[in-house]
Amino acid sequence: ADITNDHTASSFKLPSIKFTNLFINGQFVHSISGKEFETIDPRTEEVIAKISEGTKEDIDVAVKAARAAFDDGPWPRMPGAERAKIMMKWADIIDQNIEELAALDTIDAGKLYNWGKAFDIPGVANTIRYYAGAADKIHGEVLKPARELHAYTLMEPIGVVGHIIPWNFPSTMFAIKVAPTLAAGCTLVLKPAEQTPLSALFYAHLAKEAGIPDGVLNVVPGFGPTAGAAISSHMDIDKVSFTGSTEVGRKVMEAAARSNLKQVSLELGGKSPLVIFDDADVDKAAELALLGILYNKGEICVASSRVFVQEGIYDEFEKKLVEKAKAWVVGDPFDPKSRQGPQVDKKQFEKILSYIEHGKREGATLLTGGKRVGGKGYYIEPTIFSNVEEDMLIVQDEIFGPVMSLRKFKTIEEGIKSANNTKYGLAAGIVTKNLDTANTVSRSIRAGIVWINCYFAFGNDIPYGGYKMSGFGRDFGLEALHKYLQVKSVVTPIFNSPW
Ligand code: ADP
Repeated sequence: ADITNDHTASSFKLPSIKFTNLFINGQFVHSISGKEFETIDPRTEEVIAKISEGTKEDIDVAVKAARAAFDDGPWPRMPGAERAKIMMKWADIIDQNIEELAALDTIDAGKLYNWGKAFDIPGVANTIRYYAGAADKIHGEVLKPARELHAYTLMEPIGVVGHIIPWNFPSTMFAIKVAPTLAAGCTLVLKPAEQTPLSALFYAHLAKEAGIPDGVLNVVPGFGPTAGAAISSHMDIDKVSFTGSTEVGRKVMEAAARSNLKQVSLELGGKSPLVIFDDADVDKAAELALLGILYNKGEICVASSRVFVQEGIYDEFEKKLVEKAKAWVVGDPFDPKSRQGPQVDKKQFEKILSYIEHGKREGATLLTGGKRVGGKGYYIEPTIFSNVEEDMLIVQDEIFGPVMSLRKFKTIEEGIKSANNTKYGLAAGIVTKNLDTANTVSRSIRAGIVWINCYFAFGNDIPYGGYKMSGFGRDFGLEALHKYLQVKSVVTPIFNSPW
């Protein structure tokens, strides 16, 4: 994809904000309470817009609309090919609005504009197409029972789905949740993160334009403990799919258990290892390690925040890594030269800086970075700690920022042990040219996705999700479609069988 651009940060024409209300039953409506909240531009720390704040009452109205659309509406009943046609149209309309959508995510989340334009937003359209292509291929099986029975399974949509998503990939998260839900024939209520409501509302508007029936897709911005909790504890939602922190994931699961035992899938935190072996190309490995932690300013659940390097190349690697980190350009995400924009909000910015202070106090060596960049906006320097002990807080906790911890290891066994020394299990990377090493390590690491000689290689057909405390359930792939389906067995006697 083309990530070049001819504008500069100051010449970029910012998008106007068209949608600030809740999208319920095919209409933009104000919240019942009349409350609003501000969404802030992390580049400037200034208010972008005031957004209607959904609370429990609004979630109730949205769930009623989704329930009616599921129980009586056309969406679950139409042939899959019809749903596919509408979804394909939606994808095409999204493609016509790429620049505006990318700009919304840049002002809302501080994401690199060129990358959004080249990857995130076209990716949304393609994810919708991927699942649209599956909508007419959902079917059960004819079974062969031992007794004289005719038996088959139906794959039925699970019903009304509640989605709670985070702020780091407002567009991608929206797509990977909504597309398989719609393809399955479900209806949904989605709560975007309070930091980044803008693009989700725009996608909802485009969905209506494409012909997705009213009530099928509802978007209710609001806060976690109010609107989010109203979804996870709702008595009339059949499934909740959550992506966010492990701490909140636990609350979502508890609320689901306490209410109607709705099904739950959780994609939670990570502290992913990147293990680099002596035979690696040091320059390429250093580039990969940096990208692994600095892409999207470290605000990515699969970030390679723990880097383990074998002793034979360690010194050379460390030197290259620091040189490259110092040359990494942090700045306005509209500027084509920037490789890293601001952290999403003040809370995250302060949290990351306090982890950095903690790392220094714990006795880790700060190789580079550690400070804020500039005096305005939530920019943080690429930060690398070495001489870390595995029980240090900066090695154990998910920091969700541009902070790497670097450690030397000797043997393959030691590398594997260190990689697995975490409560999380979302992703891992290995850099080696040795096939035996790659095979051994990839099978030994307890994580939902392992990248060999690459990182962040995602695809619509590549499922990813957590082992251990990184959650359960998979996004992407047909696995994700199956999260929104349930199996019904139908059985009838044949040959006048008595049962
Ligand atoms: P982060 O720490 O990355 O902000 P969170 O897990 O706090 O991640 O947020 C992810 C999503 O979960 C957001 O949409 C947020 O509003 C929502 N959320 C936060 N608290 C709760 C809660 N108690 N119940 C349901 N959703 C919540």
